[in-house]
Amino acid sequence: MPRIAVISDIHANLHALCSVMEDVQLMQCSQVVCLGDVVGYGAYPRECLDYIRSLNCHVVKGNHDDEVAREDFYRMNAVARAALKWTREQLDQEQIDWLARLQYQRVVSSAFTIVHSSLDFPKAWNYIFNANDAKAHFMRQFSPLCFHGHTHDPKVFVCSPEYQVSEEPDFLEDLYEEGSSVLALEDGNKYFINVGSVGQPRDHDKRACYAVYDTDTRTVTFRRVAYDVEAAQQAILAVGLPEYLAERLGKGC
Ligand code: ZN
Repeated sequence: MPRIAVISDIHANLHALCSVMEDVQLMQCSQVVCLGDVVGYGAYPRECLDYIRSLNCHVVKGNHDDEVAREDFYRMNAVARAALKWTREQLDQEQIDWLARLQYQRVVSSAFTIVHSSLDFPKAWNYIFNANDAKAHFMRQFSPLCFHGHTHDPKVFVCSPEYQVSEEPDFLEDLYEEGSSVLALEDGNKYFINVGSVGQPRDHDKRACYAVYDTDTRTVTFRRVAYDVEAAQQAILAVGLPEYLAERLGKGC
């Protein structure tokens, strides 16, 4: 499995997912892993859920997957709550059961682990925004590499052998300008990598985002993928989801 596509936070955006999967083919990935939040916000929860299941890949549970499955929306704001309620109505019991059975974290190989938020307490859905937030996570990361999502913001956190935690900002420039950026993993360090969001980017770039992990070269390549944002927005409005959910796709925030 030399090249693995790591996708996260699809949020029922089928247009973004299809475009990303075309790029995954171009990048010659032989495997996909999914970091959760398959549903919630977008107009295609059934289709995205079926698409991800058809890949027969490792998937972990996101907070939206969890709250749709448990029909427990109390922690969400009004917009997210409306979207989750609508999403739940679109899914059949078998699909809901599949979401409910997802694990919070998975060890994919001795080389890497996947989780939606962080390994220190996955069910708490902590948001890891900076190196300080990542410290508790690294206490629980036993593989050299762990991928996560949840904030919808691509980031790389590094933990040195001396347990110094820092953020690696250098890859971002190329990612925004060239749409692709390569990070070389160094032996001895541990990496906690946020691959950004396929279906609702929040880093002010409306293109979908994901990453490719090459196990032979020990590199992680971040990719930005343009997709038909307008069609995704129209679909959101057509099914009567809150307008704000369409608006934010156009801004990437
Ligand atoms: Zn999400």
